[in-house]
Amino acid sequence: MGSRPGSARSYSICFPADPAGRGTAIARVIVISGPSGSGKGTLIERLIASVPGLALSVSATTRPRRGGEEDGREYFFLSENEFRDWIAQDRFLEWAEYNGHLYGTPRAAVDRQLAAGLDVLLEIELEGAWQVHERRPEALMIFIEPPSFEELERRLRGRGTDSGEACDERLAKGREEMAAVEAEMAPGGRRRFHYVIVNDSVKRAADELACIILQAREEYEQADDR
Ligand code: ADP
Ligand code: 5GP
Repeated sequence: MGSRPGSARSYSICFPADPAGRGTAIARVIVISGPSGSGKGTLIERLIASVPGLALSVSATTRPRRGGEEDGREYFFLSENEFRDWIAQDRFLEWAEYNGHLYGTPRAAVDRQLAAGLDVLLEIELEGAWQVHERRPEALMIFIEPPSFEELERRLRGRGTDSGEACDERLAKGREEMAAVEAEMAPGGRRRFHYVIVNDSVKRAADELACIILQAREEYEQADDR
């Protein structure tokens, strides 16, 4: 099941979510993490179009807005002072610094969506994912990997949303994140992710993501009936 560091991986590792001990909630938090450029946004867009009952959490960030992004749609764009105020007011379920900018998940909106019976998707980097795992142990944890580091670089640079320097920083961070998850999933690792999906083909990976979520939902519903 292991692969050599840096080698191309063409399969996904799955540790099916165990509903035991997760309480009786049907609605839940789904963490989608993975290096920048691995395809999280692309897969989530497909997922939301194909699976009903999902809400995507809108994060807050101090990163400058990109062309085409709208406040309150892609992110809530905050100044650093505003972000620090939100931290002081305990308004984040999790937050982290990523390449010089702050990113966080507003807690109230997540709880509102859960109360409305929706499953809430959090598209977040690794530090934030660990915080959610700690604070919401029932959360379903999914990591999206590129088939290789070279392909990650091609996708990130090809996306054209970041400067050359920002891409370099994101790739360095991505390498760290992939190594950390590789260690997590190795024998003896903590295995905090339930699934690692390799995004080789959008269709295959999006289908796999949808199957995982539908299966987890079924397991939760069965646990709820017991
Ligand atoms: P992330 O949200 O993880 O940063 P994106 O969804 O923005 O990543 O994807 C990064 C780039 O890679 C985009 O240009 C996207 O169209 C492309 N991409 C995503 N998945 C694939 C894939 N399976 N094969 C080829 N290109 C992909
Ligand atoms: P981007 O600048 O490309 O929109 O996002 C950079 C990274 O921050 C991505 O890995 C993205 O998943 C992550 N991110 C986005 N929102 C949040 C958040 O609310 N919390 C955390 N911890 N990471 C986030």
